[in-house]
Amino acid sequence: MTEKLYTDFDINYRRIEENIKLAAEKSGRCREDIILLAATKTVSPELINHAIDSGINYIGENRVQEFLSKEALLSTKAHRHFIGHLQSNKVKDIVGRVEMIESVHSLKLASLIGKLSQEKGITTDILLEVNIGREANKSGFLTEELDEAIEKISKIQGISLRGLMTIPPVCERTSDAIPFFEEMYKLFIDNRDKKIDNVSMEYLSMGMSSDYAEAIECGSNIVRVGTSLFGKRNYN
Ligand SMILES: *Cc1c(COP(=O)(O)O)cnc(C)c1O
Repeated sequence: MTEKLYTDFDINYRRIEENIKLAAEKSGRCREDIILLAATKTVSPELINHAIDSGINYIGENRVQEFLSKEALLSTKAHRHFIGHLQSNKVKDIVGRVEMIESVHSLKLASLIGKLSQEKGITTDILLEVNIGREANKSGFLTEELDEAIEKISKIQGISLRGLMTIPPVCERTSDAIPFFEEMYKLFIDNRDKKIDNVSMEYLSMGMSSDYAEAIECGSNIVRVGTSLFGKRNYN
């Protein structure tokens, strides 16, 4: 069983690498311009380490408790991102333990990450999560809130704003996600071109198992892939 998990991973990983390369080329870039981040929720540390040994160099967890329980067992060779919904009372458990928090959904959360980072004498890289589908059940900034948020966040010590992240609405057809990706890319470029002090818009994190190729074709440079790499999960 374990053996099969590993060989399945190997096959999946090869296929995804090929798809990423093609999508990157379609958008005038190359494979090296795109980060494949393995979304590792529910995946065992052993399989995560196999993935890292196979070449995965970015991993992302989305539950604080689960991350802490795996942390000591994980290979230190991969960059660690936090990609899940972060509650204020858990920020202290995550600051200093991951390189980047991709899912910053409020000014309050950004301030808290900044404060705790300063106390530790570090700077934490963050992305701002955008609720591009304006969904009531999702967190993240609405597009019209973004300018003011970026302006304010650029002044907070202890954090470095490096880009934007989004999870578009679940779409019946993959192609339905494309307008959301295009809107995100426009926001990303507009803000990058403003060249705000202390903000470096380098990363646009969008695209998951079902739509990472489309996301890359629309300009994403971080795709967060779980199921397509590791197989089906028991929970989301
Ligand atoms: C689980 C998760 C992913 C990966 O989703 P898959 O559909 O399994 O590829 C990406 N981003 C976030 C924030 C996640 O929680």
